[in-house]
Amino acid sequence: MAKEDYYKLLGVDRNASDAEIKKSYRSKAMKYHPDRNKDNPEEAEAKFKQIKEAYEVLSDPRKRAAYDQFGHAGVDASMDGGHHGGFGAESFSDIFGDVFGDIFGGGRRSSVQRGSDLRYNLELSLEEAVAGTEAKIRVPVLVACGECAGSGAKKGTSPVVCSTCHGHGQVRMQQGFFSVQQTCPTCRGSGKQIKDPCGKCYGQGRVQETKTLSAKIPAGVDTGDRIRLAGEGEAGENGGPSGDLYVQIQVKEHPIFTRDGANLYCEVPISFPTACLGGELQVPTLDGKVNLKIPAETQTGKVFRLRGKGVKPVRGGAVGDLMCRVRVETPVHLTKEQKALIEELNESLMGGGKHHSPQEHGWMDGVKSFFDKLTG
Ligand SMILES: [Zn+2]
Ligand SMILES: [Zn+2]
Repeated sequence: MAKEDYYKLLGVDRNASDAEIKKSYRSKAMKYHPDRNKDNPEEAEAKFKQIKEAYEVLSDPRKRAAYDQFGHAGVDASMDGGHHGGFGAESFSDIFGDVFGDIFGGGRRSSVQRGSDLRYNLELSLEEAVAGTEAKIRVPVLVACGECAGSGAKKGTSPVVCSTCHGHGQVRMQQGFFSVQQTCPTCRGSGKQIKDPCGKCYGQGRVQETKTLSAKIPAGVDTGDRIRLAGEGEAGENGGPSGDLYVQIQVKEHPIFTRDGANLYCEVPISFPTACLGGELQVPTLDGKVNLKIPAETQTGKVFRLRGKGVKPVRGGAVGDLMCRVRVETPVHLTKEQKALIEELNESLMGGGKHHSPQEHGWMDGVKSFFDKLTG
């Protein structure tokens, strides 16, 4: 039986790209699927085997080149090595099982590569980090070139079989008694050469573009958190999957609050009279002002805890608290009269026979024993 032309069998023309050949093979394989040919299984199987044979030759750059030059005689003679030999013995289902393995299963060529992951540093205000936000981020990415569909070859042409390694991607170098296998320097392992490069990507198959993405930032994120946007990294090479994009969160300093995990901290200045007599003042929280009661005789450094006015952590758990640390301010720009009044107050405090400075006495005692030891 005279063999039919392989290109005709696959329904592609002679300068079809690898991708076109694969695509056509897949659709033909589907067409002759046993489930779809219950009326005439023998004929479908025979046809399938022919298509598979054609694909095995045309998908192998070296065999394809031989076939182009010498026809069936060329490939029958060069069917060496035994990797793909013997079409006849396989059962239909075995062959069919190979189809998808061949096309999708990790690839014959080592040059099919996943794209790189990218990192994007996103600065957020504390309010945005606590409440969550929708961030628009613009990232430079390498995407498959639209002009050449990622092949790198000028529109209407295809990459050709590498003339150095004849499509192997590897070359053998003789070194004394040893022969060493190396990645082909001409095609860097892809087995293909681009004679006429695409004008848009200069043969790279990928171009740089700026992509605007919308990233949903969940409430409660903090500096150091990462959000993964799957598949938004760089495009893969030769049909490989895209990498991921990691959004790295950096929360800006806030003029009022500092954050430690779920808790917020702020410093609240209070006046000298309020510290003495007590009072109420307004303090800010992330969701509005609240009143804070200051008891009489409050000292600098006293911390008031406002429960539940902190941050709800992104990984769950209780909402934190807001800690307000009080600082008593010494009055400034005093008038003569005010100074006189303070003098009067001081005399009153000294004369009463009571300790009015709770820390000072303890501190003075400490200093005294320190000096006693020195002079010892
Ligand atoms: Zn291109
Ligand atoms: Zn090569």
